[in-house]
Amino acid sequence: MTISHHPPEDLLADFAAGKLEEAHQLVVGVHVAGCARCTRFVRAIEQLAGAALEEVEPVPTAPDAFDRVMSRIENSPAASAAPPPASAADHDIPPALRNYRIGKRRRVAPGLSMRPIELSGSGKARAFLLRSAPGSRMLEHTHTGTELTLVLEGSFSHEGGRFGPGDFDYGDDEVEHRPIVGDEGPCLCLVAMTGNLRMNGLLGRLIGPFVRL
Ligand SMILES: [Zn+2]
Repeated sequence: MTISHHPPEDLLADFAAGKLEEAHQLVVGVHVAGCARCTRFVRAIEQLAGAALEEVEPVPTAPDAFDRVMSRIENSPAASAAPPPASAADHDIPPALRNYRIGKRRRVAPGLSMRPIELSGSGKARAFLLRSAPGSRMLEHTHTGTELTLVLEGSFSHEGGRFGPGDFDYGDDEVEHRPIVGDEGPCLCLVAMTGNLRMNGLLGRLIGPFVRL
């Protein structure tokens, strides 16, 4: 897996400090778990923070956000109560999410479906798995909040380049884009989103009310 798009460094620093809200912590954490470069960066920040804390006063509170996320991602399902039995419908749940409760698949728009990921509910951002049909072209849209996207399978492309498995994309209300899904297969993404999508153009305004994201 060649990863060419990484989270911005300030996002990684906030992740290392455990300052991100749950949905963002999850998406960044799954990227970091599969990315040697970002793992090194996060570990380095934790060591710096740990050293800085030791110099000030000997408090035993080194940031362990990374380890907490990783242990949730890496722990065996046996650790959680009664994991749901694997079924054909669950084939698109990546191993990193097996300790999370994931809702039923819901059609969002033609060629687009989503499955919500159950979080503790303390944050404003929602997390979900988004599946797009191969070759589909999303309508041009803008975000009213931020959107963190991690590609799990397949690919999409937009003005920012091509995004394949492991690649991380960051969008906010400054960004207008119209991703095209690669032809090689469905594109499965893990997404954390605040706010809503705003569809642009006449067609977007017509179908906007039917797009439930
Ligand atoms: Zn990375």
